[in-house]
Amino acid sequence: MAARKLLLLPGDGIGPEAMAEVRHIISWMNDHEAAGFETDEGLVGGAAYDAHGQSISDADMEKAMAADAVLFGAVGGPDWDSVAYEVRPEAGLLRLRKDMELFANLRPAICYPALADSSSLKPEVIEGLDILIVRELTGGVYFGEPKEIIDLGNGQKRGIDTQVYDTYEIERISAVAFDLARTRNNKVCSMEKHNVMKSGVFWKEVVTDTHKNGYEDVELSHMLADAGGMQLVRWPKQFDVIVTDNLFGDMLSDVAAMLTGSLGMLPSASLGAPDAVSGKRKALYEPVHGSAPDIAGTGAANPIAMIASFAMCMRYSFEMIDEAARLEAAIAKVLDDGLRTGDIMSDGMKQVGTTEMGKAVLDAYKSMTS
Ligand code: NAD
Repeated sequence: MAARKLLLLPGDGIGPEAMAEVRHIISWMNDHEAAGFETDEGLVGGAAYDAHGQSISDADMEKAMAADAVLFGAVGGPDWDSVAYEVRPEAGLLRLRKDMELFANLRPAICYPALADSSSLKPEVIEGLDILIVRELTGGVYFGEPKEIIDLGNGQKRGIDTQVYDTYEIERISAVAFDLARTRNNKVCSMEKHNVMKSGVFWKEVVTDTHKNGYEDVELSHMLADAGGMQLVRWPKQFDVIVTDNLFGDMLSDVAAMLTGSLGMLPSASLGAPDAVSGKRKALYEPVHGSAPDIAGTGAANPIAMIASFAMCMRYSFEMIDEAARLEAAIAKVLDDGLRTGDIMSDGMKQVGTTEMGKAVLDAYKSMTS
């Protein structure tokens, strides 16, 4: 079996603390399951700025391009608030997304049964929730030109952003959504605003055409993005996969994320186009949360989002479906057993720190491995 090449970019704040727990899991899997992970490490964010004066060095960028998958921790913090805009910590993540052409952002919203009470919604609304938001990540209004503030010369100014999508951009993101739906409950809901936006009319048209071209076995529906926001908090379990553009996806994925409780629980994946020769997609996996400077260094960070990001990595980059499912089941078991980090703590549960939570998940994984 060819080595599975992973680049670890722990970053700043709680990033390295959470990544340490994933490193333990990788090393156990290599020793006991011949998983064949070959890991390399690099610097990103403030850590890279301190070492190289850049938010990611060219050498580490090359490693990212050569890896089968990148595991990313988190970047940023008050130490770098005053560095130049081009080299701010977040610029490292943006460069990774841009150079690796990661156009598909996958944000699952899964409610572990043991945490159903910690959502702001009623337990019956979110218990057993398992939906996936597929957000277009490299186009749309965040990147479209013109993008400027112009002086109208009459004491007024005008701010302009441009929502723009080409056919191929909508085709490839909807294909990702349809492909993923086939591995789940086979339903895709596409969200846009065709009632008021030309780009919405076009989005709906291209998604419909893509569906007709080889994906008719998948159930497709369309919903206006504002109605989608309402439905997400009313009855989220009606959805399986939601596909939407960069702007609506930014908002809808955060809404969906918060259905399930803490930031410390939420993984994500960003995928590029399949390579013409190997068929493998470039991929980066990261927790949704940031570097949490308020708790960094205290050993209190919840490592589950990072561990669940690694589970996504096994599923989407290495087709290690059983191992990914087992790691997710291990997370669920530890929560069932009553272990909680501070961010998800509730009455009657046992509060633990980062390393204890990471070890408990690995122990549960081991106990499920025959
Ligand atoms: P944050 O996600 O770092 O923290 C928000 C709150 O959630 C904090 O109270 C934090 O303690 C808590 N929290 C987050 N993750 C947690 C975890 N795993 N376990 C326990 N508690 C957790 O967001 P912020 O405070 O707005 O930003 C802090 C820094 O992170 C900023 O520099 C910001 O730019 C950066 N940031 C980076 C990323 C990224 O690397 N992808 C994403 C968001 C924010």
